[in-house]
Amino acid sequence: MNARPVLLQATGLLPSLERRLDENYTVHRLPPPGTERDAFLAARAGEVEALVTSAGAGASAALIDALPRLRIISSFGVGLDTLDLDAAKRRGIPVGYTPDVLNDCVADQAFALLLAIARRIPEADRYVRAGSWTAQPAKSFALGRQVSGAKLGIVGLGRIGKTIARRAGGFDMEVRYHSRRAVEGVAWPHEPSLLELARWCDFLVVITAGGAETRHLVNAEVLDALGTKGYLVNVARGTVIDEAALVRALQEKRIAGAGLDVFEREPHVPPELFALENVVLAPHIASATVQTREAMAQRVLDNLSAFYAGQPLPSQAA
Ligand code: NDP
Repeated sequence: MNARPVLLQATGLLPSLERRLDENYTVHRLPPPGTERDAFLAARAGEVEALVTSAGAGASAALIDALPRLRIISSFGVGLDTLDLDAAKRRGIPVGYTPDVLNDCVADQAFALLLAIARRIPEADRYVRAGSWTAQPAKSFALGRQVSGAKLGIVGLGRIGKTIARRAGGFDMEVRYHSRRAVEGVAWPHEPSLLELARWCDFLVVITAGGAETRHLVNAEVLDALGTKGYLVNVARGTVIDEAALVRALQEKRIAGAGLDVFEREPHVPPELFALENVVLAPHIASATVQTREAMAQRVLDNLSAFYAGQPLPSQAA
């Protein structure tokens, strides 16, 4: 008889995490949606008591409801927009996730994108590689925008937003933020109106939660308030920005530029962006360093082992 808990892995994970899951659990990989998945669930759903997923893959109510013996969900990532917490709660299933361990890395990526777009780094790289640097100084290369001393507006001053605000201190930036509630115990001024924040700042960095409540929070009106000299950076979720409005604003140069780590329908990126010099694109990699991904993997394991030891989860979302 197999005494190890049966665990369902909903998505591909870091190889080191998959190895450690295999050492401690009987792991099944969830087939992609379709007949293979249906057949798998028909044969195995009743055995599964742990589900490991990611912020990208999530866990729908349909999947949770299809697993009658499910007792614990452990998710790799901090985004909760793809996890049906209500469905888990109805069944009393705790949901573990991996907050905090990625704050530094995501804040670093926010600054990497901010600097890349303001100082035209990818454009400069393309310019040099193309052999366009034919005279010294490089007069035909457009001037960038100074970051040090600029005004930074942060949308969402949560765990990562605060880390970004602290980074900004190193650049002597003036910081204000917008969120539904003012955060206690911080010196940065709260701006109750997102439009006012966009009008005030030089750089608007978006790091709110995703999901229905923040959908298209940054719309055409906010982009116009940011204006022709303002830059947008999004490391939150693609859904927080009205992507069609953003594409138009970039094409018409109604904002100065954007640095984007996330998109509305990943991995789809609007092809109109590919031809634009005023945007820097990244494939959702804000937490993608060896160190951070290992720390996230460890938290996924720690949440599971705490559950099986009858202890509170180190990081429980619901
Ligand atoms: P937190 O929960 O600590 O912070 C979320 C912030 O968003 C809070 O300040 C909250 O403030 C604000 N917020 C929520 N809803 C709204 C709203 N309707 N209007 C304005 N502000 C709002 O989360 P983290 O800082 O840990 O993470 C933030 C998000 O970053 C994650 O949810 C995830 O989606 C994204 N992320 C992206 C990564 C990437 O790879 N690009 C990696 C990691 C995270 P209040 O409730 O007061 O409004």
